[in-house]
Amino acid sequence: MHSIAKEEARTLISARGGELLALMQRAAAVRDEAWGRTVTYSRKVFIPLTNLCRDKCAYCTFARAPGDPRARTLTPAEVLQIARAGQQAGCKEALFSLGERPELAHAAAREQLAALGYESTVDYLAAMTRLVFEETGLLPHPNPGALYEAEWRKLRPWAGSMGMMLENISERLLEKGQAHFGCPDKAPARRLAALEAAGRLRIPFTTGILIGIGETPAERVDSLLAIAEVHRRYGHIQEVIIQNFRRKPDIRFRAHDEPGALEMARTIAVARLILPPEISLQAPPNLTPDAYGLYLLAGINDWGGISPVTRDHINPEAPWPAIAELAAVSADAGFELRERLSIYPRFISSAWLPGPVLERAQKFDLTQRRERAKGEKGTK
Ligand code: SF4
Repeated sequence: MHSIAKEEARTLISARGGELLALMQRAAAVRDEAWGRTVTYSRKVFIPLTNLCRDKCAYCTFARAPGDPRARTLTPAEVLQIARAGQQAGCKEALFSLGERPELAHAAAREQLAALGYESTVDYLAAMTRLVFEETGLLPHPNPGALYEAEWRKLRPWAGSMGMMLENISERLLEKGQAHFGCPDKAPARRLAALEAAGRLRIPFTTGILIGIGETPAERVDSLLAIAEVHRRYGHIQEVIIQNFRRKPDIRFRAHDEPGALEMARTIAVARLILPPEISLQAPPNLTPDAYGLYLLAGINDWGGISPVTRDHINPEAPWPAIAELAAVSADAGFELRERLSIYPRFISSAWLPGPVLERAQKFDLTQRRERAKGEKGTK
């Protein structure tokens, strides 16, 4: 049992100098014990189903207003084209990203959905998840925002794992001038309820926090504790992402400070100590291109989804490093880079996955194990 209490976490998250080094070493030791000296990534293709959204997060560069010429909802043919390109590039994961409930705010979104034959974005997503599952060899991983239980249920037959960033549980961030002002789907109670609903349905789940969006260090700790608490009840959190805010010219927070690499490191280390060790801890390498190796020293064991074919539509200014570069940086820090599936191994079972998804995940898992064994034999 490694988890630390709230008061200790709130002290540690402000560690500086020698104390920060000791904190990182402590977190790295927990990671080594649970995950070893291997760092993983998932080879994914990114499908931006729609960039219309009813929320107005101050840091978002993905969502577009309906009148914007860059506003897009992909057709089924476009979805398949992107998925097939990913499949040909060796991807296993089809990550669906989309805005939250645009049809509740925008007539244009309702009209587009009606033209496609759907009433809601979630219904369209469910159909596209099924299409990609049936027509390609990929494992869909939808990231649809704060859904209700009946909505998660619609996606479940064709999606092995799903995700929704908790972001932060501070109500303060909904106030005027704050990051989540004008964002009904970012109310902490809604997002916690969505995490719980996914737990009740036994969906292997990815969540995480955003840092640098106006939250205090104590609010970061509280958000991580909330994730740990939901996981203790349902056991479904497979990974937690610690994602840093990046400034962009076309967002409401364009003059907002970005968290530095040490700020990320102390948050990662505290997260590793708060979360149960079986939860994978991830930080995106493309958002700190000059210093991401440091995150391995602070306790992460995963780089997240890396796409060989599509750019990061959430942070389009920050390309993913090539997989060879990721391997070199990982090796420099003493880690072996290894590919994983979007569903972590302990969830590849009938207790967590519907039959067809389980079958595909088992097939991929077996192939990856064989390739690894071949590689290890080749280096002996
Ligand atoms: S971050 Fe997500 S919920 Fe917020 S505006 Fe962008 S797409 Fe919408």
